[in-house]
Amino acid sequence: MARLTYHGHATCTLETDDGTRLVIDPFFDDNPACALSVAQVEADYVLVSHGHGDHFADCIPLARRTGATVIGTFELVSFCREKGVVNGHGMNIGGGHDFPFGRVKLTPALHTGSVAGDTEGTHTTDCSGFLITFNGKRVYHAGDTALTMDLLLLKGQVDVALLPIGDNFTMGPDDAVRAVEMIEPKVVIPIHYNTWPVIAQDPEAFKAKVGSRAAVEILSPGSTYEF
Ligand SMILES: [Zn+2]
Repeated sequence: MARLTYHGHATCTLETDDGTRLVIDPFFDDNPACALSVAQVEADYVLVSHGHGDHFADCIPLARRTGATVIGTFELVSFCREKGVVNGHGMNIGGGHDFPFGRVKLTPALHTGSVAGDTEGTHTTDCSGFLITFNGKRVYHAGDTALTMDLLLLKGQVDVALLPIGDNFTMGPDDAVRAVEMIEPKVVIPIHYNTWPVIAQDPEAFKAKVGSRAAVEILSPGSTYEF
């Protein structure tokens, strides 16, 4: 079995069938939705979709302490290396790579990009999502994105889709329903909502809107979905 534990906002730990721990978009210490401190988290890989603090804040301390390999865009991984991260694997959008646990492909995400902590502003980078495949299972973490036609390229490629529904900074619930129509995943897990009042959403209302298009798994922070 694989285990996906939601930590609130866009942060989750995906444990593959072989026990490899992938922490995606680590935002623990300043995450109002998360009770965990980054010091309590273990990781073999850290995947970061972009450099905004609500996705990247704890990437460098987590990777430095655990020795985990950071996976993300080339510029973001280069920044991490400059800040003392030993293991990094830079990629770019549209590219995939086979890791020991499975394959990661960076998918397009329509969002803005700056890198928290980059005082020189030299590491501005595009944002991505992730298509992660392992043991015949396909997980898509959208990162932060608008509804875009690029999502159609994922049609039939995804079993479990983590989609933002918060609105304001990303697509909202109605556009996320359209994303479900475009991607046709089996399971949808809503993310990037209820962290702050500006992205307050009712996940049950989202589930009702998705209807029979896909199963919607609403995970409260700290809970785990097994598949
Ligand atoms: Zn965000």
